[in-house]
Amino acid sequence: MVISCESVNKSYGVLQVLKEVSLVVNKGEIIAITGPSGAGKSTLLHILGTLDKPDSGRLIIDGADCISLSENGLSSLRNRKIGFVFQFHHLLPEFTAIENVIIPGLIAGRKEQEVRTEGIHLLKLLGLELRVSHKPSEMSGGEQQRVAVARALINKPAVVLADEPSGNLDSQAASELHYLFFRLREEINQTFIIVTHNDQLAARADRVIKLKDGRIEL
Ligand code: ADP
Ligand code: MG
Repeated sequence: MVISCESVNKSYGVLQVLKEVSLVVNKGEIIAITGPSGAGKSTLLHILGTLDKPDSGRLIIDGADCISLSENGLSSLRNRKIGFVFQFHHLLPEFTAIENVIIPGLIAGRKEQEVRTEGIHLLKLLGLELRVSHKPSEMSGGEQQRVAVARALINKPAVVLADEPSGNLDSQAASELHYLFFRLREEINQTFIIVTHNDQLAARADRVIKLKDGRIEL
């Protein structure tokens, strides 16, 4: 088990956004989270990624009980154990692809040379060997998103959490990105939890978790 949550509840004011949500994800699984807009998908992903706190419930990431961790403990765990990919790549525009990729490694206190070597390896794995020294503005949307995936992978996270990662891509680039997720699972047994509206991706996932009005539909 890589990540699990149990009986998670979350409200914003009077709005109950997540109701008794429980989920167990094993290493190497690719899970799709689907459901209508406003169902609570992003809120769940943020809680799984420790970016937001549940009102009640348990969260275990790679053996660590997250509810009992301090803010510092949480940010360190987030940096080492979780890779994020959002709908918009959030790459730093002034930095090259490799510079963007290594930032979480440097934050983790790793040696620059080691992180850079790994970053170049990851960019190659993602088909970006000719884009290593390009800035985001010099790349296509699909390439930018693949750089964001490399950045998410640099610290060998236990799980990659992706929130509509292909939501801003054309169908060709979306298919390529999804293909890469499955290849990364084959090659490095990477675990993914992906919020998506893409039916093809959901159909290929190991499991589909459907959220509706803050509950998992059985
Ligand atoms: P989804 O990603 O499935 O579209 P969200 O998790 O973003 O849904 O949002 C679920 C509900 O929670 C929505 O009604 C949204 O307006 C509300 N919500 C999300 N984040 C906040 C917040 N920080 N403050 C208040 N309401 C929020
Ligand atoms: Mg959302």
